[in-house]
Amino acid sequence: MRDIHAPGMPGRRSVLLGMAGLASAALSGCMATARAHDEEVPAPEASNPVDPADPAPSRTAPAQTPDIEPHRPTPPTKQQIVAEFGSRQPREWGLQVTGTAGKSAARDIALTLDACGGPGGTGCDQQLLGTLRKLNVPATLFLNERWIQANPALTAELARDPLFELANHGFLHRPLSVNGKSAYGIAGTTDIGQVYDEVMGNQAILQDVTGHVPGFFRPGTAHCDDVAAAIARRLGVVPVSFSINGDGGATFAPATVAAEVGKARSGDIVIAHVNKPGSGTAAGLAQALPRLLGQGATFAKLGAVLPA
Ligand SMILES: [Zn+2]
Repeated sequence: MRDIHAPGMPGRRSVLLGMAGLASAALSGCMATARAHDEEVPAPEASNPVDPADPAPSRTAPAQTPDIEPHRPTPPTKQQIVAEFGSRQPREWGLQVTGTAGKSAARDIALTLDACGGPGGTGCDQQLLGTLRKLNVPATLFLNERWIQANPALTAELARDPLFELANHGFLHRPLSVNGKSAYGIAGTTDIGQVYDEVMGNQAILQDVTGHVPGFFRPGTAHCDDVAAAIARRLGVVPVSFSINGDGGATFAPATVAAEVGKARSGDIVIAHVNKPGSGTAAGLAQALPRLLGQGATFAKLGAVLPA
């Protein structure tokens, strides 16, 4: 559909990917403990109550984001971020804090799929992607840097597919904290500088792969504090949570996935995972999505339903 690379810049991506690989290798030692527990499993009870609003009438999927983007200001440097936010103390920690987007005001449902990477997490659920393509259901894919490193060709393929929008799922898949909070046993970032690195490290890679500046960020485990959320926004990305926990970190059986996703209504942001083939996620979505479409529900990428 579109050429994602401007002429004359084909080599930059491989350079960036290589640099990221080196950085990842350098950090792998200190991340070993965290990665041993690196399963993102939002608890089922974390799902918010469902908006009972009636589904909107059916319409076609929104058009792909145009190649020419409006001007975006250059994000602040790490030093500027540290200076600006260094005196702020976080007051909130969790899946939903001040500054995160957990729902939209649109009539559409936003399906978001995380690809977390790391040990046991670098797979790709082709059955799930096939279902979305067959049903023409758009989705926003939150890709972690480790998943991108493991799947460079697939990442480029997904970037070319107008059905999908690529978003930032962090560099090392760490909960986004300015003071070292953790979630599900995964250590979060420990200071503002690490928050910057967690967001901007993968931002550069995704921009190079897609030709666009990503507009959305979901921390590893989807946890963050309110200062980190404000930093993410200052860096040009909207931190995104969810209102429907579709697959419980890819642990739900198909029937449970179908039941939870089937609750989605206008404005809901559904989270599920695209990196766990063999989980119940694909089969559950294959049940739920045709039903929702039959009820008149419509789906859109985050870029079409959330203000950037
Ligand atoms: Zn994740």
